[in-house]
Amino acid sequence: MTSRNRQLFEQSQKVIPGGVNSPVRAFKSVGGNPVFFQRGQGAHVWDVDGKSYIDYVGSWGPLILGHAHPEVIKTVQKTSENGLTFGAPTEAELEIAELICKLIPSIEQVRLVSSGTEAGMSAIRLARGFTGRNKIIKFEGCYHGHDDSLLVKAGSGALTFGNPSSAGVPQETAGHTIVLDYNDVNGVEATFKQYGSEIAAVIVEPVAGNMNLIAPKTDFLKTLRTLCTHHGSVLIFDEVMTGFRVGLDCAQGLYQVQPDLTTLGKVIGGGMPMAAFGGRRDIMQCLAPVGAVYQAGTLSGNPVAVAAGLTTLRLIQETGFYDNLANTTRQLTEGLTASAKKHGVNFCAQSIGGMFGLYFSKNIPASFSEVMGCDKDAFNRFFHAMLDRGIYFAPSAFEAGFVSSTHGSTEINTTLAAAENIFATL
Ligand SMILES: *Cc1c(COP(=O)(O)O)cnc(C)c1O
Repeated sequence: MTSRNRQLFEQSQKVIPGGVNSPVRAFKSVGGNPVFFQRGQGAHVWDVDGKSYIDYVGSWGPLILGHAHPEVIKTVQKTSENGLTFGAPTEAELEIAELICKLIPSIEQVRLVSSGTEAGMSAIRLARGFTGRNKIIKFEGCYHGHDDSLLVKAGSGALTFGNPSSAGVPQETAGHTIVLDYNDVNGVEATFKQYGSEIAAVIVEPVAGNMNLIAPKTDFLKTLRTLCTHHGSVLIFDEVMTGFRVGLDCAQGLYQVQPDLTTLGKVIGGGMPMAAFGGRRDIMQCLAPVGAVYQAGTLSGNPVAVAAGLTTLRLIQETGFYDNLANTTRQLTEGLTASAKKHGVNFCAQSIGGMFGLYFSKNIPASFSEVMGCDKDAFNRFFHAMLDRGIYFAPSAFEAGFVSSTHGSTEINTTLAAAENIFATL
C-alpha cells in the first residue's frame, strides 16, 4: 500500500465510518486498505499515488463502456450547461422510458429513481399494495439493496421466516420475509403450497451476482414464474446488476422468463446515480399519483443522469457489442481456468455476458452454501498478488467481476500473464 493511499484512509476513518461511503469498498474481506482512485480511462484506473490498474470492478457494474467514455462525458457536460435539476418532467425522461419499454418487452411502464435500493424497496411496496398481501420471498445470498424488508437472512430450519441481517431492522419487518435457497425448486414449491395466498412477491436476481456469480438452473426461474402466476403473486426480477450486462435483452431475455416487475440500475445510469423499476401496466398504475402506493424522489429522473443513461443505452445497441463483450470476458475466464489447471490450483471460473465469477473450488457453485465452501484464503492471496501487479478485482471472494467494452486482448493478456505467475506460487 502506497503512502498517499494510506494517509487518506487514516484521515477518512476519522470523519467517515470505516473510511468508506459503502461497506463493499473497504477491504474487510481481503484485509489491507482500500485503494483511493483519482482517475479512470477505459479499462484503466489510477490511484492517488499514480499507480495504474486494469479495472475488473467498473464501479461494481455500471461502467460497461469503461471509464470516462468520451461520448458519455460529452453528454454530461452538455446537459449540465442547461441546469442540473428541475424537479419537473423533462423530454429526456420520456425518451429513456420509451427506450427501456422497447428494449425490455415485459416493461410496459417504468418509473425512474436514483439507486437500486430505491428501485427494490419501491417494487416491494408496489407488489404489496397491488396484492394486498405482506409476505415476500427472497433467496439467500441475493442482494436487492438495503431496504429493511430485504436485509433478511434465513431463519433456522426450512420454511421459517427470516431474521434481520442488520441491526436496526425490526424483527416484525423481517418476519414478513421468507428466505429460501437459490436454485432450490422444491423449497419454493413447498413454501407456495403452505403460504401461496399470502405471498405478495418473489424477488430474485435472475443471475445472482452478489454472492460471487451463481447461474440459475434451467427450471428455477420458470418454476418461479409458474408459481407466481398460479398464486397471484408478483414476480420481481432484480436486474440492477444483470440489466444490459448479460445481454441487450437482459437476463429475462436470456432465460426467456418474463417477470411482472423488473428493477434496473447500474448500467442504465451510465455511471450516474440512476435506477428504475417497471413492468406490467396494471401493477404500475397502482403508483401515486394514479394509484394508492406512494413513491417519490426529488432528484428522480435527474436530467444529467438520464443523459448519461441515454448515451450508454444508445452505444450498447451497436451491432456486435454484446458478442465482443462476452468474447472478451470468456477469454479472461478461460485463460485463468487453463492457467490454474496447469499449476494444479483448485480454481474454476465462468462468465455470462460481461460479468464473471472466479471460484477457488473444484466445481462451479450453484448456491449460497456452495459458494461459501470456496477457499477464501486462496482468493485473498490471489487478490493481493494481482493488486500488486496492477490488476484490480473486486476485494471479496463473494462478488462478481465486470468487463467493459474497452477491455481488449492487451488487458486480458496482461491479466493472464500476471495470474500465471501467481498460480505458480499459490
Ligand atoms: C447493486 C445492486 C442493488 C443496489 O443498488 P444500489 O444502487 O447500490 O442501491 C440492488 N440489487 C442488485 C442485484 C444489485 O447488484
